[in-house]
Amino acid sequence: MPFSKFGLEAGIFRAIQKAGYTRPTPVQAAAIPKVMQGNDLIAIAQTGTGKTAAFVLPMLHRLAISHGEGQPRCIKSLILAPTRELAVQIMENIRAYGQHLPIRVAAIYGGVEENSQIKSLHKGVHIVVATPGRLIDLIGRQMIDFSRLDMLVLDEADRMLHMGFLPDIVTIVGHLPKRRQTLMFSATLSKEVESLARRFQYQPKMVQIGKRANPADTVAQCVYEVPAHLKNALLLELLRQSNFKRVLVFARMKDGANRLTNCLKLAGVKVAKLHSSRSQEQRLQALQDFKDGGVQVLVATDIVARGIDIDGVTHVVNYDFPVNPEDYVHRIGRTGRAEAQGDAISLVPKEDLNLLGILELFICQRLTRKHLKGFNYHVPIPAYKPGETAPRRDWRKRTRDKEALKTNKSAAHSKPAARAPEKPGANRRKS
Ligand code: AMP
Repeated sequence: MPFSKFGLEAGIFRAIQKAGYTRPTPVQAAAIPKVMQGNDLIAIAQTGTGKTAAFVLPMLHRLAISHGEGQPRCIKSLILAPTRELAVQIMENIRAYGQHLPIRVAAIYGGVEENSQIKSLHKGVHIVVATPGRLIDLIGRQMIDFSRLDMLVLDEADRMLHMGFLPDIVTIVGHLPKRRQTLMFSATLSKEVESLARRFQYQPKMVQIGKRANPADTVAQCVYEVPAHLKNALLLELLRQSNFKRVLVFARMKDGANRLTNCLKLAGVKVAKLHSSRSQEQRLQALQDFKDGGVQVLVATDIVARGIDIDGVTHVVNYDFPVNPEDYVHRIGRTGRAEAQGDAISLVPKEDLNLLGILELFICQRLTRKHLKGFNYHVPIPAYKPGETAPRRDWRKRTRDKEALKTNKSAAHSKPAARAPEKPGANRRKS
């Protein structure tokens, strides 16, 4: 079905053409007609499938036909999203798809000063995209009027529930008119998502693209089983391969993300980091550098990586294997977006093999095991972890630490030693 069949307002159609979309993605083809008919909707779609346009296009269409230029502005649609990155991204999509329409949108999220957000609300907007925390705050101070609202979207509903936003969502929905259209988008259909639908929706239509919790089909997935202390070395080896152009690396915790970033920097890799202790400016800068190709690698934690939409992410690397299988699905959905091809690589030490087993049960698929040719998986554990700085005074240790990072390559290429080297650094290439 071509986009023209949806009967979208002409300005929206032009914007779609400008974006270069030739045909709707499956979730768009299934969801847009149902939303245009006014139904409530649950859409279960893998990440990166074009689901933002699936709700934004009919939303803009409805606004375009009901709200002409010069009419007083009031909030007609609210989109709730789990992270500020996703909220900003949705706002940018709305601006792009609505560029020929007199529609105004504001994004409301925490972590930045509120004045400019409040100002844009005062000027009047038709669409609010918000994370629950800041929105609750503004509602509590009666700074926002939802009395004319007629459409609510819960985006990445499963993630919002996971992040503990249920009480906030309940409070927010309590301030919305009861007569409204409610759309729910989620990567997975959990019992919690189903119960949210029962609570807030009226006879919703269901759209399910792909199998339940199945990672995007356009992503080739594989696993390298590697001792924990050799993950940095293996990652560096992989990054040296020419096709690793734009690589998103996931760490479990921010400290780990910091350590890994330092380690990669030390090895000469162009890298940026994205985690919750970074300021909004730092996060945006990191994303921009990654988008522009100024850095090859972006090291991120799960929470802030939600909503990352960057074209051409060639590889997602699970440096730390996710504890939650749903996080795995979201992570790898950052590559292979909109039917492009992508690779997802997991570095799995034996301590995490149980998590891998759980994931494979969850996605009903055994992931391909790979073994990097020439990499020495038998290098013993160094005296201290790669990436840690040696005590200041001990120049020998510091040198050894740098060597351990620099010579990962040589460590990787050295054959498994007949007699395992006793000391770190003993596996340096003998010239
Ligand atoms: P989303 O799942 O909404 O984050 O979208 C993932 C990516 O797909 C974004 O970069 C969109 O710009 C892109 N996209 C959305 N719809 C289409 C389409 N019909 N054709 C090609 N790309 C699309």
